This record gives sequence, C-alpha cells and structure tokens, in this order.
Amino acid sequence: MSSPAIHHDHASDRDPDRTDRPTTRPPEPSRSDAVPVSGLVGAPTAGAPVDGATSAAGRWLLDWSGAGETTQTSVPESVNGATASVATTPIRRAPADFAGTTVTTLKSGWGLLLVGSTPWDKIKEAVRGYAALRDDQYDERVTFLGRLPALITAWERHHKVGTAQLNADERAKVAALQTLRTLIEAEHRQLVTAGATVNERTQSIQASRFKGDYLLEQVFRGGATLSRGDNGLSVTKIQQALADTSHLAQGSVNGAFNAATETGVRSFQRAEGLPEDGVVDRPTMVKLEGVFRQHGVERTLAQAPAVGAKGAAGEFVWGTAPAELTADTRDLAVSEATAAKEVVKTSQGVQAGGVLPTFVPNLPGRGAYEARLKALVLELVQQEYDHLAAGKAARRGPGHLFGWDHIRDVAARSKAATDAVFGKWAIGPPLAPGAGIHDAWDTKVTVLADPDAREAAANWRVEKLLTGHPRVAALDQQHGAIQSRGPEKAIVDRVKAEIVAARRDDLLEIHKAWPAFASGGEVNIQRFRETTNEANREAMWHLFQTVVHEYLHTLEHSRHVTYRNTLEQQAGAFTLREGVVEYLTYTVLESITYDDALRTLVEGEFHEDAVRHQIPNYRGYGERANAEKLAGVVGARNVMAAFFLGDVEKIGGTG
Ligand SMILES: [Zn+2]
Repeated sequence: MSSPAIHHDHASDRDPDRTDRPTTRPPEPSRSDAVPVSGLVGAPTAGAPVDGATSAAGRWLLDWSGAGETTQTSVPESVNGATASVATTPIRRAPADFAGTTVTTLKSGWGLLLVGSTPWDKIKEAVRGYAALRDDQYDERVTFLGRLPALITAWERHHKVGTAQLNADERAKVAALQTLRTLIEAEHRQLVTAGATVNERTQSIQASRFKGDYLLEQVFRGGATLSRGDNGLSVTKIQQALADTSHLAQGSVNGAFNAATETGVRSFQRAEGLPEDGVVDRPTMVKLEGVFRQHGVERTLAQAPAVGAKGAAGEFVWGTAPAELTADTRDLAVSEATAAKEVVKTSQGVQAGGVLPTFVPNLPGRGAYEARLKALVLELVQQEYDHLAAGKAARRGPGHLFGWDHIRDVAARSKAATDAVFGKWAIGPPLAPGAGIHDAWDTKVTVLADPDAREAAANWRVEKLLTGHPRVAALDQQHGAIQSRGPEKAIVDRVKAEIVAARRDDLLEIHKAWPAFASGGEVNIQRFRETTNEANREAMWHLFQTVVHEYLHTLEHSRHVTYRNTLEQQAGAFTLREGVVEYLTYTVLESITYDDALRTLVEGEFHEDAVRHQIPNYRGYGERANAEKLAGVVGARNVMAAFFLGDVEKIGGTG
C-alpha cells in the first residue's frame, strides 16, 4: 500500500485525512439511545426488570437502596464534551417507608448521621432517608440533597481520594459515589423543574480543565476546601491554574499545597477582590473556574514571551526554539505524566477511580451490542451522506462554486488572526490558491484514483464514526464497551468491515465532500455555493472559522505528529490531533473582534451594509475538553510547546 504524495505528511495508509473535520456537524441526533432521565424520582413499578445493572456503581447503589428492585436508567451527562449516558440505578422512593422511625429521625435533623457509624454508613443512611421521601416533599428533598455532597466529600477526605493509593473496595466506592453525584444532579434538575429553590451550590463546574475533578467539584459547591497541607492532583490543578494566571511560578507546581501555594492563592484572591485567607474555598474556586471558561489566559500565554514573531515559515527544528518560548514551561513528575496520558483518553472508564466497566454484550430489552452498533453507524453514515454528499457531484460547475479571490481573502484573514496569537511558535506559508489552499473535492478525486487510497478512505470514514461520534460513545457506555478491548474489538472490526463493504461508494462520496482537511502542510476546503444570500454568508463565516482550524493543523510539529501516531485513537490520538487543535482554534476565534471591516471582508458579495447579521457559532470537536484537561494538569504553555515545538515530553509523551 502506498499513499499518494499529497498525503505524505499527516496521512497514513490507514488514515487518509487524519486532520479533517466537518464545518458544521450534522443535526444533533435525537439521542434515541438514551433513556429519559428519571433519577431518584418516579419509582419504577414493583418487579421492574433488572436491566444489566452490572457496573460497580450500579451494584453499590443497589446495595444502598436496599430496595431489591431496580431498573437501569441512563442519565445524560456531558462526558469529554460529548453527550453520553451513565448507567445508574434509581433509588426507589416508597411512600410506605415514610413513617419509619429512621426517616422521622432523619427528617427532624441530622442527629442520627452525626453519631456512631462510619462516613460510609452515614451516606447510606442519608440515601435511604432520601429514598423514603415523597416526590412532593420538595423542601425535605432539597435539604437532604444539599447535605449529601458534604457527606460524600467527608468520606473522600477520610480516604484521601485523589492522593492515596486506593484498594479495590475504596475504588468501587469512589465509582459508586460518582454515580450518586450524577443522581443527585438529576434530582436537582427535577426539583428545579418542579419550582423548588435549589441552592446554587448544586451547580457544577463548566471550565473543562477542572470539570469532573472530585475534590474541585466539591470545593466549587462549598462542600470542601483546599488549604495548606493538602496534596494530590487536585492541588496540582489549582497550582497550575495559578501559574497560568501568573500568581505562582511554573516551577512551584508540585501537587503539595505549601507556603508558596498559599501565597499564590492570596495573590489571586487579592486580584479578584476576595478575602485573602490563602484557602481555596467556594468563592475562590468559582472565580478561578470563571477565568478558564474562555481562553483569554491561553492567548496571553501564547503572546507573552518576549520574543518576536517567527520570521520564516515552518516549524522550529526540535530543540532550537528560542529559550523564551520554553522558559515558562515545566518538566513533569512521573505521576503528572501519567495523569496527562490519562486525561487525553476518550474511551470510557479510564477516569472512574480505575474501575473499568464490564462489557455487557446483550442488554435485556435493548438488544445486542453488535446489532445496535451496526444499525447506529449505518444510520450515521446515511446522515453524513444526506448532510454532506447528496447532490454535490452534480454541482461541480463554476456557477456552483465560490470564487478563489473571495476564498483567498477570507483565508488570509484567518491566517492573520491565527498568526497574531501563535505566530511566535510556528508560522505557515501564505494560503495561496493552488499552493497553500486547495479545493478539497479536487484533491480527494485525485487521491482516490488509487484503489488502496479508496479502501483506506472508506475505512477511515467508518473508523472516525466508531471512535469519535458521541452517539457511539453513548452506546459504548450503555454496554460497558471499550472498543480496544478483546471481545469488543472483534465486534467493532466486524461491524467496520461489513459497513465498508455495504456502503463503500457512499463513504467515498462523503469523503470527497468532507468540509475541510489539512494534509502535507496545506489546507483543503470545499467551494460549494449555497442557494441563498443568507446561507452563503453563513458558509463564508464557516470558512473563516474552519481555515483557522485547518491552518493550525499545518502548524503541528512533526514530533507531535509522530508521538500521537503511536497512540490508539481513543487512547489519546483523537484528542492530540483534533482536541488540541480545537483548543487552540477557540483561543484564536475568541481573540477576534467582529467589526464592520471583518464582516465586509468575510461576507464579501453577500454583505449588507445596513444589517449586522448574526455570525454563526463555531462548533468544533468535543475532544477539546480533553485537551483542556491536559492543560489543566501540565499547563497551557506545555501544551503549546508540545504542539508547536515538538516537546512532547511536556505532555507526558516520548519522542
Ligand atoms: Zn481537524
């Protein structure tokens, strides 16, 4: 097998365009695989079938509820930016239990929870008490739920979760608590829907670099604080955030909340007008989280080095970048390198306290994983075909395509915006039509003349859906499937082969019509005109945004490419290829001022002077969240040094 010359850089035989992306994603799926949220409310009917409650979390909750009757439900949850489902077991709330002595005691206060028993018993008692409340007891439910996070945190603190080596029992409990938190959130959503006033402490973290961290989520809700003497990865993330905002030296990030950290926290508190006590409490965490919801910090870090813009196009030969660019990066401890490699993974299970899900090939009432996976991916292929490819082959004439002059002007503006942020790290040649930027359809037609390339392209289209689509991730979660694991891999390989065989021609049409990709250091975009001024205006904004993304692909250091190619898609390759580029893309797009000059340039012949039309939102790959988690552990500068300079050791990799 050989790849045509145009794909020699990012591409491989298997992955003809590893860097492509849709300009707009197909319409949001209806999530037909997800069961509506039921959480704790709406008790299942007695004798409801047990529907594959096989996760460790499911078993623990089953034990907690003491009801003996469970049903499997799925709580939609944002995982890695994709919507997935979490297998949970709702706790049955039986009105008959309400008069019980225990519950009365619980209702009258928290006395029972404060005496005797271990922290774990207290959680179990609280869950039982909550389960016994009636649906319409809103105030009591709010009160119970409000206390549960603090009890959970107390247990986690007691067991040093996040810092200590946990035994199997503790790991199972950690996983169960994670599920319990999901249930609590679902309950809160229902209470809010019912009009109950829910304490703001139930809101959860949005900024990806902190999101999902046990302790930090608890600090955010007011259920815990971090202060001098604390240790662990959560402390590392706080320190790294302080370092990225210039309140702590990068070299002081070490996972130990020491005097320097306390000074850094005070500095941040002072800057934010908070009481200076050096303790990371709820107000401090909320402020810190708010700083990282957008990417002003990253922009500052990218531009700050006292070094001029890179003079000539091309990447720095590894190890020759100006010292100023790498001065504020940091070397990773072994534990940090391990954590960095974990957070970029996009397969499920790896972040849940070390407990991997059990594969359930058949879910009663739903069907077999293999059949469901095949049906879903076939549906997604059809969706991509309808959305991207249908009718395109008939629209290759000049009257149907945007002119190169307009495209060249827009692409130049995208490049200028990107260079203004990252031009000190790497820079590409001008995006001249036919030299730096090409018609993606024409490029693909040339490439696909080769039979090997056709086979590789058809496989790549299916593989991308299998490893990157949120609905596939949701299905995997339901079945506890990890695609790279033995039994699942055999199934996934079979499904892939069958779909490629069944839909080869359509897959190749999708491939030709794919909105954009980067390859060989050059950008490829589609030129299809739409049928209305409004649609054409939107298309040009998408082009403007897309070229930022694709141009950033061309700036990826060859050593970074080599490293990520050693990884499986879901073991970090997807995140390091698309997630990191998306993280950098947002950093650029959020730096742009959308003034009249830019509108005139981008909208071109479709611009209307008197009207400020809405600019479409950019919607990129959800794996950006994993890239941000990576930055949360190693620092935004380290991510930049790895991506632009090839210092992959700064993200836990090896050269
Ligand atoms: Zn891409």
